[in-house]
Amino acid sequence: MRLQAGLLAARATGAAVRLAGRGGTSLPGKVLLRAEPQAIARLAARLEQGSVVVSATNGKTTTAAMIASILRLPGTRLVHNRAGANMAGGVATALATASGDLGLFEVDEFWLGPVAGQLEPRAVLLGNLFRDQLDRYGELEIIADRWAAIVAGMSAQTKLVLNADDPLVADLGRKREALYFGVDDDSLALPELQHASDSKHCRRCGHAYAYEAAYLAHLGHYACPNCGARRPTPDVVATDVQLRGIRRAVFTLRTPAGERRIDLPLPGLYNVYNALGAAALCLALGADLDHIAAGLAAVAPAFGRAETLDLGGRQASILLVKNPAGANEVLRTLALEAGELDVLGVLNDRTADGRDVSWVWDADWELLAPHVRRMTCSGTRAAELALRLKYAGTDPERLHVVDDLEAGLDAALAAGDGPLYVLPTYTALLELRELLARRGQAKEYWR
Ligand SMILES: [Zn+2]
Repeated sequence: MRLQAGLLAARATGAAVRLAGRGGTSLPGKVLLRAEPQAIARLAARLEQGSVVVSATNGKTTTAAMIASILRLPGTRLVHNRAGANMAGGVATALATASGDLGLFEVDEFWLGPVAGQLEPRAVLLGNLFRDQLDRYGELEIIADRWAAIVAGMSAQTKLVLNADDPLVADLGRKREALYFGVDDDSLALPELQHASDSKHCRRCGHAYAYEAAYLAHLGHYACPNCGARRPTPDVVATDVQLRGIRRAVFTLRTPAGERRIDLPLPGLYNVYNALGAAALCLALGADLDHIAAGLAAVAPAFGRAETLDLGGRQASILLVKNPAGANEVLRTLALEAGELDVLGVLNDRTADGRDVSWVWDADWELLAPHVRRMTCSGTRAAELALRLKYAGTDPERLHVVDDLEAGLDAALAAGDGPLYVLPTYTALLELRELLARRGQAKEYWR
């Protein structure tokens, strides 16, 4: 009774927020959970093929989109929460308002315990842990400890898919079977750990790891010289990786089921990691390797994750930056582009961004600085972003501070005619999509 009443209330709420033209992706679920706190468990139990969960600091939305692109090929109907609606309310909204065979849920790293506890998922993919929004979450090791407790409490039937290259994540498989993925490509190794590297100390004994190769922040090939703990040998591997600017990444996917050359229509090594995680999860579910290759080749970028829009005749690529490790990968990718770049950076310090924006000092803007033709800085902390770029070596005459986002966007669009690269923080991305929707320049699908 409580479930039925809650579902009616949730669907009515959903219809009301749609009529009001609001996003409201987690409100119906919150209404449902207020009526029936066990609603996620009860509705998930109706899914014929069960559910899968994806969590990580960076890349959840894109990884889930890749999994969806693969699993839809054999005709699986998915119940899938919308990008960003990744706490209990968003998961409950998806379960209340869609029907399908398999639940695919991206879950905020802080909500993994409560949500996974109710879902009893068939498989859980844990991608990475980076420093993010410290004032909301506290130290990384605390989340890693929390995740270890969650993994220890999972049913033995739940398949665990882990990033071998992230020591914080890889160690979660210490006491149980896991399917590991990782990168094997010496040509990508960085000369040294970047200063945004978050996890430098052995999860078992506290000694500093030694890195044979660091690929992306603290992701790489590592071992502890003190206790001998080392990166597990991955089952699903990317080799011969070629990063092709802001549009694509090509790599060879090696799996126990065979090998395929993957042409990924998304840029950067971070998306190669997302693709590896998606491939490994789908293999764990029994997917066909041809479907995996075709699904990855067909994935469309999610809003703000390297999506390119036509804004009044200019090609604008929008790349979310929200923490040092994620920002570094975007900056590294931009540095691969030819010629000088027009950039709009939008730095906000609203609650969902983390009030503390000192992270911009840890990101390697030095990678971008020599490529800047013109950079417009907007957002509540526009001046601090401009200061950071100045310290990174950008000629101050190329930096323009326009606090208001809409005015900043228009100024950036008016100055030049080539591509524009837009780098917003999380709430800035939300504001940007509201703005573009109001102007009829963004698709509706992200609502
Ligand atoms: Zn150790």
